[in-house]
Amino acid sequence: SFVLYQDQFIERNQAKVDIEDRGYQFGDGIYEAMIVYSSHIFLLEPHMKRLERSAHELNLNLPYSMDHLTRNIKRLVEINHLTDGIVYFQITRGAAPRQHYFPENTSSVVTGSVVHKERSAAQGTRGIKAVLADDIRWLRCDIKTLNLLGNVLAKQKAHEEGAGEAILHREDTVTEGSSSNVFIVQNGELVTHPADHFILNGITRLFVLDLARRLTIPVHERTFTIDELMNADEVFITGTSNEVNPVLEINGHLINGGTPGSIERKLIEAFNAEVEWIRAL
Ligand code: PLP
Repeated sequence: SFVLYQDQFIERNQAKVDIEDRGYQFGDGIYEAMIVYSSHIFLLEPHMKRLERSAHELNLNLPYSMDHLTRNIKRLVEINHLTDGIVYFQITRGAAPRQHYFPENTSSVVTGSVVHKERSAAQGTRGIKAVLADDIRWLRCDIKTLNLLGNVLAKQKAHEEGAGEAILHREDTVTEGSSSNVFIVQNGELVTHPADHFILNGITRLFVLDLARRLTIPVHERTFTIDELMNADEVFITGTSNEVNPVLEINGHLINGGTPGSIERKLIEAFNAEVEWIRAL
């Protein structure tokens, strides 16, 4: 398979990263993961906007124009004949002798790769168990950085407990999942944490908020508590590869009797319709 390295497409085993790359030493970089349906990169534009924002928030130089980066991501999909799967794209601040402050004379390092994965396989995992985990991350969770240890440790906890996701909370407030956003349904209305510094503003989150509005399901972007989560009519997570995924059990406590609820089914149906529409393009 081919990977993107800076401005070139090369064999994966030809790609070399400097051991002093700041992505490697400090997690000093940003990324995006995008899903591909029938060779179309889903919601490419908002992903690129978010990438640009992440770069801006970290004062990270983009070595090529956004148009150029976007073209190369599309080309990466083509060159690998990726029909269904994931495109991973990252930019680090580059290689320099190790010191914490920004180096002056280095250029950012761009890499990208793809994973082939059929959507039907992912569909089979719909409906997951979750566990609660302390949100021990920093206070700029709105930036999509490579620093993911807080997320990794939470996901590991979930994995060890046989769950598919860790739902994070700061004290009593539910923030998001370790790699997803969290929604609850109360009396037919959606509630999800507002897009502030405590969560990543998921592209799927935004898309689902849009779907909900189209379906005239009321939405509230406000914080909610662990108690509201556990007593919700429905709970689901959203994310690039999860799409809309019902959470059927949290810490051993069943949600909606352990089956997907009617709002979830409506949103999944609307999501599926969108994917079918893209496939027909
Ligand atoms: N929140 C976190 C912490 C994530 O890592 C992700 C995705 O990886 C999401 C939310 C969902 O974002 P998106 O819908 O853009 O994939």
